[in-house]
Amino acid sequence: MTLRISRVDGAVTLTVPRGVSDREALAFAAEKQDWVLGHLSQQAATVHVGPGQTLNVGGAQFQLVAGAGKRLRVVGNTIELPQPVEKGRLHLLAWLKEQARAELTRASDHYAERLGRGYARLSLRDTRSRWGSCSSAGALMYSWRLILAPKSVLAYVAAHEVAHLQEMNHSADFWRVVDQLYGPHQEARAWLRQDGPKLHRFRFDA
Ligand SMILES: [Zn+2]
Repeated sequence: MTLRISRVDGAVTLTVPRGVSDREALAFAAEKQDWVLGHLSQQAATVHVGPGQTLNVGGAQFQLVAGAGKRLRVVGNTIELPQPVEKGRLHLLAWLKEQARAELTRASDHYAERLGRGYARLSLRDTRSRWGSCSSAGALMYSWRLILAPKSVLAYVAAHEVAHLQEMNHSADFWRVVDQLYGPHQEARAWLRQDGPKLHRFRFDA
């Protein structure tokens, strides 16, 4: 038996193989109730980003408004989005990724210099399972959504991944390197645990 939740409209579909009774099928569905409710509540919180909303970028709050121009424009703490709204969203996504690349490059360079080690390259993705990674070849990968987190949290993730250039594990030695580079990191880690998943509620597709 499989239970699926549509990403589009939240419809829940239970697929039951031949020979399974309704009673068994409903018992299976009841068992998965928590999982279903968890997913539905997350979906309910989905935000299609657009004019009228505020967005935290690089630790500062921006107001999103409908602009008259063909391109995204930042004026003070206002981001003017081109119309129509779907187009504005794509422009905003591209702009956010640019900001993320700049900030994560700056932070990674800073910590790599302090550590006295270079990294091979830096790439951005939209990963749900991790905020960053560091390969044995020294390639850093980050979630671009870190630009939506407080500055101190973005900095912590960069320090964490750069520390892996020296220690490819999460040993006590590794955490000593993080301490040296970043300092106390309890708060940043707690923020990622509690508030990090919320960064995924922003959607930029049509
Ligand atoms: Zn790690």
